[in-house]
Amino acid sequence: MSESSLLAARKSEAVARGVATRGIYAVRAENSELWDAEGRRYIDFAAGIAVNNTGHRHPKVMAAVAEQAQAFTHTCFHVAPFEGYIALAERLNAMTPGDFSKKTMLVTTGAEAVENAVKMARAFTGRSGIISFSGAFHGRTLLGMALTGKVAPYKKGFGAMPPEVVHAPFPNPLHGVSEADAIEQLERLFASSVDPERVAAIIIEPVQGEGGFTIAPFNFLRKLREICDEHGIVLIADEIQAGMARTGKMFGFDHSGVAPDLVTMAKGLAGGFPLAAVTGRAEIVDAPGPGGLGGTYAGNPLAVAASHAVLDIIDEEDLCTRADEVGEVIRARLTQLAARQGMECIGDVRGLGAMNAFELVIDRNTFAPDAALTSAIVAEAEARGLILISCGTRYNVIRLLPPLTIPMDQLQEALDIIEASIEAAVMKKAA
Ligand code: PMP
Repeated sequence: MSESSLLAARKSEAVARGVATRGIYAVRAENSELWDAEGRRYIDFAAGIAVNNTGHRHPKVMAAVAEQAQAFTHTCFHVAPFEGYIALAERLNAMTPGDFSKKTMLVTTGAEAVENAVKMARAFTGRSGIISFSGAFHGRTLLGMALTGKVAPYKKGFGAMPPEVVHAPFPNPLHGVSEADAIEQLERLFASSVDPERVAAIIIEPVQGEGGFTIAPFNFLRKLREICDEHGIVLIADEIQAGMARTGKMFGFDHSGVAPDLVTMAKGLAGGFPLAAVTGRAEIVDAPGPGGLGGTYAGNPLAVAASHAVLDIIDEEDLCTRADEVGEVIRARLTQLAARQGMECIGDVRGLGAMNAFELVIDRNTFAPDAALTSAIVAEAEARGLILISCGTRYNVIRLLPPLTIPMDQLQEALDIIEASIEAAVMKKAA
């Protein structure tokens, strides 16, 4: 029996079934490569799901964490605060969009950041309603899953959902929801389901991650800003997957020029160490009283040290520009591939910076999803040494999330594997 099969057997005996996994048991990883329990090498196009934007074990991140570990690893910020947390808050206040006074709180996971942003919005407005979007993903906590715009597997069996969470359609012209439709539906919601005067916040991902890498039209974000201003609603940008240079700008919202009131960050914020943040208008962040926010591990010193290093690296290595370069190579190759005869299964190629995806369809007129082909391509790629992950409310989108630091030769190698994997999966389907 292989080491991986042994681990798989132990896993299924010992680990909760709900914690779904792939069969690649990690042993070691370096920048954009990962080695499994069989000694097999993979190029990692998942990057821990948009976490290792600076690659696995970036030397500067490792050095910063090692140095911090010599001093202290945990104090609990509420008990013994430390400079690194304060300095990180200062940096995030300066970096996030919007030319106004800002404050920050640090937490540990993306879902926790979302929960805290909503708490702040509720405390500030004295209202309870929240609007999120179809296809959204905001986490697996009770409120996070309620905000998430997809039932299976995230909400199935976990009800009742918290009240006053309403979903509006996310604009997606490819699938028949124009920007104008989405605005009209939102206005209709205000007329039929929820009084805008009772809405504390609207939360939106600038590029939907789990939902299928659907880009919110920049003008739609501008309209949302106007609607929020008109009704006194807090606009929350969930930048957990799109943020930290992934889209070619520090934040996805930067493409639209819109300043949200609150920004949630996680994933790419600390290069593989668990850290998340909420940054935004000082008066909103300060609405909850002392003791109302926080957590034992929130703002862990090792993760904070890692985050400082990550922000330095993004700057020093100009990773926003790098994200654009990587993205251009990916989109050019995929667009070329989609134009080839026999590749009609590629219904769409889309992305911003290095947040790219392609959608697999049964035919290009109806855009009927091909979920089976999607998983077949992911499996073919895995067999050829490339880690791909899928997404999409219809399970038919493959997202490409290489570290922004990936060497060009590995990027080309990965694209060759993608091409070969699609060809193989299409051929097997036809056979
Ligand atoms: N929001 C978005 C946009 C995400 O992509 C995710 C994670 N996929 C979350 C929230 C939840 O983050 P976490 O898994 O760290 O709780």
